[in-house]
Amino acid sequence: MRHAGGMNALGNELQRHYGLLLGIESPWQVKDVKLELAEKRVEIELVWTTGAKGSCPVCGSACALYDFAPERTWRHLDTMQFQTVIRARVPRIECATDGVKTVSVPWAEPHGRFSRLFERFAIDVLLCARSLTQAANLLGLSWDEVDHIVRRAVARGLSRREFATLLHLGIDEKSFGAGQSYISLLTDLEAGRVLEVVEGRTQAAAEALWDTLPEKQRLEVEAVALDMWEPFMNATKVKAPQAALVHDKFHVAAHLNDAVDQVRRAEHKELMAAGDETLKGSRQLWLYNPMNFTPEQAAEFRALRDSGLKVARAWAAKELFSRLWNYRYEGAARRFFREWYGWVSRSQLKPLIKVAKMLKRHLENILTYLRHPITNAMTEGLNSKIQLIKYNARGFRSFENFRNRILFFCGKLNLYPL
Ligand SMILES: [Zn+2]
Repeated sequence: MRHAGGMNALGNELQRHYGLLLGIESPWQVKDVKLELAEKRVEIELVWTTGAKGSCPVCGSACALYDFAPERTWRHLDTMQFQTVIRARVPRIECATDGVKTVSVPWAEPHGRFSRLFERFAIDVLLCARSLTQAANLLGLSWDEVDHIVRRAVARGLSRREFATLLHLGIDEKSFGAGQSYISLLTDLEAGRVLEVVEGRTQAAAEALWDTLPEKQRLEVEAVALDMWEPFMNATKVKAPQAALVHDKFHVAAHLNDAVDQVRRAEHKELMAAGDETLKGSRQLWLYNPMNFTPEQAAEFRALRDSGLKVARAWAAKELFSRLWNYRYEGAARRFFREWYGWVSRSQLKPLIKVAKMLKRHLENILTYLRHPITNAMTEGLNSKIQLIKYNARGFRSFENFRNRILFFCGKLNLYPL
């Protein structure tokens, strides 16, 4: 069952309909519309009017045709539930200045496998869907085709991106794939968008992140939130020497939490050796915010906290430290830190002393928080999105796909074809 060739009136009507839908103009014409009922498919064949000149895609001048490129197809928006495909042989012109070139077609971007309208629609579906799998199924696309659309959309978005002044940035790392692989991200904290993603977490990686910004914007950045991680710090000092380094308070809290946990583990081991199960199953209690406890947890935690155990002292030191973030004056904050540091030094809690020494070493870039209260957690929404991208991916074939998806979903880019 092919085609409307026998039914000329209907055939002409369909041709006119698709000509209007596609917005094609002379010298392009709809030559034929084939309805493949069994395959639920519509094929629209477009042809170039014989003898018409074409414009050079480089300089725009009208040129004589050279030949026709082999036939290509573009997936277009479905017609009802019929997958719709455009077919055409695109002419090549011979320009006196630019040589032989393929003309641009009005329904698709150069090298696209889809019409502009389809691509635009697919981008919307990808952005709205709960998962890429769901989006791919709804659109009837393979993974490869999804990646093609995502890659092109991101390239388009990046080429159009304009930077206003970037005041506060964040640099952070994330694990990627199996094993000990990392990626580093540069984030615009104000706009809540990811600016760039690179492989690794070395100084070179962080410098590469910085190099993706124009120099003017780089040198206007006021403050950067980051962990106490020398490669990121050094890269920032090289590429944006004017920017204040601000050690993210959530990273600091994570280091302190880790120390509390080490104290707990060691003490639990000691106690168990003596048949004492006091700390059994208490791990989460020391890490959670007591504000979120159930009444039973709260009672259990109060007893532990007042037990005089080493872990209780470590926890108290961690809690106490968080007051630092509330100081308004640097001098007062400095005095507070000295007292806290003295107290921890005398505590004999080795993991905690180790973290305290690190904090002392980096104190200047912790106190910058009082002037620039920024953290990477300002972009918490982004972190959960990236987690979801990672989860959805399950084994990215390449870092490049991962980067593209992060920028597609978190880059706030203008992704659409024109
Ligand atoms: Zn030309």
